[in-house]
Amino acid sequence: MVYDLLVLGGGPGGYISAERAGRAGLSTLLIEERELGGVCLNEGCIPTKTFLHSAKLYDCAKNESMKYGVICENVRLDHAFVVERKRRVTSVLVAGVNAAMKESGVKVIKGRGIIQGQSRGEFKVEVNGEVYLARRLIVATGSRPIIPPIPGVQEGIAEGRVLFSREMLELSEVPEQLTVIGAGVIGLELAAYYNDAGSKVTVLELLDKIAGATDTEISSALQRSCERKGIVFELGAQMKQIGQDAAVFARGGSEYALPYRKILLSVGRKAVTTGFGLETLGVYQEYGCVVINDRCQTNIANVYAVGDCTGRSMLAHTAYRQGEVAVNHILGIPDRMSYNAIPAVIYTSPEVGAVGVTEDAARQKGLDIRTVKLPLQFSGRYLAENEGGCGICKLIFDRNKDTLVGAHMLGNPASEFILACGIMIEKEMTPQEIKRFVFPHPTVCEIIREAVFRL
Ligand code: NAD
Repeated sequence: MVYDLLVLGGGPGGYISAERAGRAGLSTLLIEERELGGVCLNEGCIPTKTFLHSAKLYDCAKNESMKYGVICENVRLDHAFVVERKRRVTSVLVAGVNAAMKESGVKVIKGRGIIQGQSRGEFKVEVNGEVYLARRLIVATGSRPIIPPIPGVQEGIAEGRVLFSREMLELSEVPEQLTVIGAGVIGLELAAYYNDAGSKVTVLELLDKIAGATDTEISSALQRSCERKGIVFELGAQMKQIGQDAAVFARGGSEYALPYRKILLSVGRKAVTTGFGLETLGVYQEYGCVVINDRCQTNIANVYAVGDCTGRSMLAHTAYRQGEVAVNHILGIPDRMSYNAIPAVIYTSPEVGAVGVTEDAARQKGLDIRTVKLPLQFSGRYLAENEGGCGICKLIFDRNKDTLVGAHMLGNPASEFILACGIMIEKEMTPQEIKRFVFPHPTVCEIIREAVFRL
């Protein structure tokens, strides 16, 4: 049999592509060597959210609840329970993905798919010794953690002292001292959990700010909030060595040795584009990522790529949308991928939610902007529920077009309403248009309305 579509990789980009294609009636084969759901379901987005929810409840009971007249005594966090619960949650979701594949008629094969080449418009992919044929391919092979060339890093990994997020989510005990290398999203979220769980956490970051491309004011406020909870940041830290029991970094001509029990290495991820025969097709790559157009097509006809392997924003929700765009193109339904309004969230407490350009990026692009910034305390709901909260809402408008181009929030639950700003950006809304929306009252998202009226 020749399949209409073969999807390589069963993470968010891959399984959504397969599901959409299967539901539309395409004969679809999905190949995944591990569990369906990819990093997101098994060792990324969802597992960390289960950890962070426990941490938030624990921190609330131990440190925050008394601010609201709720007295909790003898509170403790059962880390082993948290890990077990994470396993339960992820297995339910993985089972859900398997069921969705069945319902949409997708054939799933567990194994490593190797592209053998193409002839007469058919792609050949070998899995577990069998060759499968398909008229179209979607490459959704994801990403893997970057291992920087720090002396001692390989020995640390081999000896289980240096871990990646996957292993951090399986630790049976909370380490007394945790050193995190890289203050990006993974580093910050896991630093937040382990700090709440009782580790003494130090985060070493090469740059002079945390949270990567996040708006500088927001990342500074997040840093202060994390520091108040006990996390130590060493910014501008250049890693020199990972020794048996100390991580050595340099700054301003001096070297510092930081004792550790475990190190989390979270310095970014790189696209997986080799080791599965992609080169046999001549698919064009740049900086180790598959190059795609706005329909997620590669340079080779009928070969699409979605998700982290394309290096475009490396977020599960980007992958979902890319998968849908690719399948729509296969089905002849007009659709294009837009990267203008992809929300980014850091699920610390407080959360960071951002979409569109930052002030710095807007200025670098030469945009003429006007910015409005408000403390979240202007929202009654926020005030009621966040005693002493330091939340911020910042909106950025393009002066020439008079449209919203960026929104940056610090405060809970930014993750739940940042989409509203994404829609406003995608639809190029003006302040006048935004003012006409009715926001539910009382909600934290009313801050958007408050901010727009103060432009
Ligand atoms: P990242 O790119 O977000 O952050 C890596 C950080 O490491 C950067 O701040 C960088 O300056 C720093 N760094 C790089 N080399 C260093 C070195 N040698 N020493 C010290 N610091 C160094 O990467 P990540 O946190 O590993 O996350 C990987 C990917 O996973 C990202 O693309 C992210 O979008 C995705 N992710 C997203 C979420 C979310 O959306 N909530 C959660 C987890 C992961």
